[in-house]
Order: sequence, then C-alpha cells, then structure tokens
Amino acid sequence: MNIGVLALQGDVREHLSALAEADVLARPVRRPEELDGVDGLVLPGGESTAISKLAAAFGLLEPIRSFVASGKPVYGSCAGMIMLATKVLDGRSDQETFHGIEMTVRRNAFGRQVDSFEAPVAIDDIEGGPFHAIFIRAPWVEEVGDDVRVLGRVAEGADAGRIVAVRQGNLLATAFHPELTGDLRVHRYFVEMVRQAL
Ligand code: GLN
Repeated sequence: MNIGVLALQGDVREHLSALAEADVLARPVRRPEELDGVDGLVLPGGESTAISKLAAAFGLLEPIRSFVASGKPVYGSCAGMIMLATKVLDGRSDQETFHGIEMTVRRNAFGRQVDSFEAPVAIDDIEGGPFHAIFIRAPWVEEVGDDVRVLGRVAEGADAGRIVAVRQGNLLATAFHPELTGDLRVHRYFVEMVRQAL
C-alpha cells in the first residue's frame, strides 16, 4: 500500500511520521506524476489559501480533483479539511478546493475567539475514548449534505456541538490535528479505509 502526503505546504513531515509509525509506506506528493500508484492521499494542515495557490501552480488541482472523485481514500486535517469542502466561507475569493465532501466549512472559525485551543472530541467509529484534539486557526463545518456522516463534534465549551470530523464515502476530514499528538488512531482508521479500498 502506498499513501501519499500532499507536500506543497503545511505539516507534511508530521503526517509522514504518523503514517510511518502506523507501519505504512508514505511518500510526499508534489507533482502530478507522483500521484501514480498512490492508493490513498493525506492533505495536511497548514494554510489552505497557500495550498490552493501552489496546487494550481504545480498543475495539481485537476489531478487531485480526479483522484478525489475516483473514490480513492483521502484524509484532510484542518487546511486539508478545507481543501475537501465544496464550499468555503471566509476564504479568499480566488481560493480553490479539491471538492469531494458536500459541506460548507468556515475558515478560522474558532479563531475569532482564540487562535488555538485543545478540547476532547469523541469520534464515531473510533474506539478508545475521546481524542485530545488540537485546533490551530481551525475551520468548523457549518452545513453538511445528505451523504455526509458527522463523526465528531466539540463536546464542551462555548462552541459545543460544532462539527469537527466528517466522512463521506472514502473521504475523511478533521478540523483538528491528530498528527501533532502522537495519537495514531485517526491515521490507523484512514489506513484501514485505504486497505479496504485496494
Ligand atoms: N487557517 C488555516 C486555513 O485556513 C488552517 C489552519 C491549519 O491547518 N492549522 O487554511
């Protein structure tokens, strides 16, 4: 199994090491040819406006849109979640996404109150208790289409109930960064999605 990590900008290295720890061969993807032979793709956290711009500049927008539309598994964290959304609020007017998950996300949604925070988030389908979720200028999901499963919400505080993890078919997205906590359960869950799609 080959998992690619989109390596244009953001916390690429953290995802590569989380996947390595989950015993998977993962490689950076910067050029369209590097998508060949990739069975699953991770879109890292970072800055979605930069990722969008670089994806266009590197000729990756359409190839990744096709990859996403092909049904192969893709997991996006934070900026990666934004890149999988069909609609972005508070984005730049020229911001492009790879589409895929029928959802409206709001960029920097929590950031109006605080830049970063940590909160427990329980994820449906993943056992072992709530995640210690780290949010960094994170988006939240404001609306989801009928085919989207909400997997996790903020459990407590002023933003309790906000949707922060979703899945639609083989597309998975979290507003938080499991790659920063050493908790491999989301990566292992994604690896299992990739295994089942082989
Ligand atoms: N605020 C960033 C964006 O809009 C996301 C932040 C992150 O990935 N940690 O893309």
